[in-house]
Amino acid sequence: MSDELTAHRPRKRFGQNFLRAPHVVDQILAAAELASGDRVVEVGPGPGALTDRMLAAGAEVVAFEVDRDLAAALERRNAGNLTVHQGDVLKADWPALLPAPPYKLIANLPYNISSQVLFKILDHRLLFGRLVLMFQKEVGDRLLAAPNTRDYGILSVLVQNWFDVARVVKVAPGCFFPPPKVESVVLRFDPRPQPLAPVTDEAAFRRLVKAVFAQRRKTLRNGLLGAGYEPDAVDHALAAQQLPPTVRGETLTIAQMASLTDELSNLN
Ligand code: SAM
Repeated sequence: MSDELTAHRPRKRFGQNFLRAPHVVDQILAAAELASGDRVVEVGPGPGALTDRMLAAGAEVVAFEVDRDLAAALERRNAGNLTVHQGDVLKADWPALLPAPPYKLIANLPYNISSQVLFKILDHRLLFGRLVLMFQKEVGDRLLAAPNTRDYGILSVLVQNWFDVARVVKVAPGCFFPPPKVESVVLRFDPRPQPLAPVTDEAAFRRLVKAVFAQRRKTLRNGLLGAGYEPDAVDHALAAQQLPPTVRGETLTIAQMASLTDELSNLN
């Protein structure tokens, strides 16, 4: 890290916890199977612990950094294989700025926006050949969770349907400056050749999944009614799927949620 960057005071509002553990950087790059010529997207390069190593490995890096000072410092690297977009990654027009897929998305994500970044990734998943991302451990647990567990939720279903998710390594707070209050975890996501469950209408699937988990203590039937589905349609769809009215949403597999989506769409 250069002197000008070590002088940077981490900004909490941008979720700045900078990696300072070279062995974790090694594990992230190994999980990405980074090779010279790879095109990489990095969300929040910060002072560049990951970026510099990816550039040195010969990757073409497109980085999105909201912090003006850090973005400017990266620009001053004058690296031919680095493009920096200063601004909020959530507002960036990814298809326009990422015209040569597939990209590997590699990031130590700002934890305050990690779910929103995941939803954006889902919206543009065809841009990416692999993701290697650091999360706070609780979010990682949700992404890996199986049905009928405490951590199973919207993100588990939407992400696992299209990506094979694997844990790479747990990361202790001391690996960052400043240390976050929580443990972290690095996950690897590989796009599935076929989704776990075929989904014809992704917007309808997302709506259903959100409704299933909106009120976890209610039955699936009441959850769906609360989300505005028609009672008759819900009763028909549950019966057609041989789901008792008392079933709880969080026990459903991804395939059952996809079938229920189709059933409700057919009835509406
Ligand atoms: N990659 C660096 C590292 O590992 O040391 C920094 C990681 S730090 C956890 C998150 C980074 O994301 C910070 O540099 C922060 O400024 C940046 N960031 C936060 N919100 C952002 C947003 N909405 N768009 C782009 N970058 C953002």
